[in-house]
Amino acid sequence: MSKKIWLSSPHMGGNEMSYVQEAYDTNWVAPLGKNVNEFENDLARFTNSRYASALSSGTAAIHLALVLLGVKAGDEVIVQSFTFSASVNPICYLGATPVLVDSEEETWNMCPKALKKAIEDRLAQGKKPKAIIPVHLYGMPAKMEEIMEIAHFYEIPVIEDAAEALGASLMNKKMGTWGKLGVLSFNGNKIITTSGGGALISNEQDLIEQSRFLATQARDEAPHYQHSQVGYNYRMSNIVAGIGRGQMEVLGEFIEKRREINGRYRDLLNEHPGIAFQSEPTQDYYSNFWLTAVLIDPKKNGGITREHIRLALEAENIESRPLWKPMHLQPVFEKYPFYGTGVSEWLFEHGLCLPSGSNMTDNDMKRVISVLSEVLNLKKEFSYEFIN
Ligand SMILES: *Cc1c(COP(=O)(O)O)cnc(C)c1O
Repeated sequence: MSKKIWLSSPHMGGNEMSYVQEAYDTNWVAPLGKNVNEFENDLARFTNSRYASALSSGTAAIHLALVLLGVKAGDEVIVQSFTFSASVNPICYLGATPVLVDSEEETWNMCPKALKKAIEDRLAQGKKPKAIIPVHLYGMPAKMEEIMEIAHFYEIPVIEDAAEALGASLMNKKMGTWGKLGVLSFNGNKIITTSGGGALISNEQDLIEQSRFLATQARDEAPHYQHSQVGYNYRMSNIVAGIGRGQMEVLGEFIEKRREINGRYRDLLNEHPGIAFQSEPTQDYYSNFWLTAVLIDPKKNGGITREHIRLALEAENIESRPLWKPMHLQPVFEKYPFYGTGVSEWLFEHGLCLPSGSNMTDNDMKRVISVLSEVLNLKKEFSYEFIN
């Protein structure tokens, strides 16, 4: 069996271990220290946000963001339905109700029209949503201009789930900095990884200071342990943050590489009937193309489904995966209100994520492309060179 090709696997830059070693040698083996501070500085600098707090996961970051906005049991929070469950779970941790909103066809992210409808309907029922959580899936910016306009009009704060979109931007403004708070993730399969980790970013100092306070058990200032709020143990470890510092040095290259991989797939499949890509709608959009995602329409390509392609790849030890199954179709969330027209369901049924890791070699790419060519019966000769 030839080597497994993953959808997206960890890719070390080279200097990670020296930061980890430094933490070890100076005995800062704790959830605080120089690596945590410097990683936060790196993140703030890279995203052009004023402040960042490094946390144990992206899920923890969403949870704390909701706490910071005062979400309580019985409240409602609007969230994109087409996402990973981690966007929604923290709403339930707080005993609040997720209100699920469908996607639009261009970016595949939160549909501004459905959002507006959801807000008006919830208001008519006497409930003002406490927050809006759009997601930038696979690195593609959501239509944040429209979403922010609606959010401002109704005065509802926005938490951007930018877990998949580190380095993506819209009108040169980085994703995660459009809303009041932005969420990042450094899980093992994300564009950079710390093995596990996350962060909150914001231009509001108070929110980020509060997030650090809550993430370290909400300890009031006193010589003994004094608490006037419920706290969490959500701070990032200084060891893990060392990996993050090393990864930040190569993030720019990784984005280039993922975009290049996306370009290769486009060159191959562009004119093929029944294949469509998640694409930047205009020049204002800049995706990090964390994952290259395609739609396969059997009605237009002679009956080939995404399962045909997925299984053919699997037979060659190549991982691919259907797009996120929308949250309003998940047994655990289907009881919650949903506003939409079926766009995300269609995307789920037809979509596939292709191997996109920045550590893919020329040979890996050739293997994936040869399976795609065979299943889709492509006539085109294909040759390419990576820049690296
Ligand atoms: C990965 C991910 C998260 C959760 O981040 P973790 O660090 O794994 O907790 C949240 N939302 C989306 C869209 C993600 O892809």
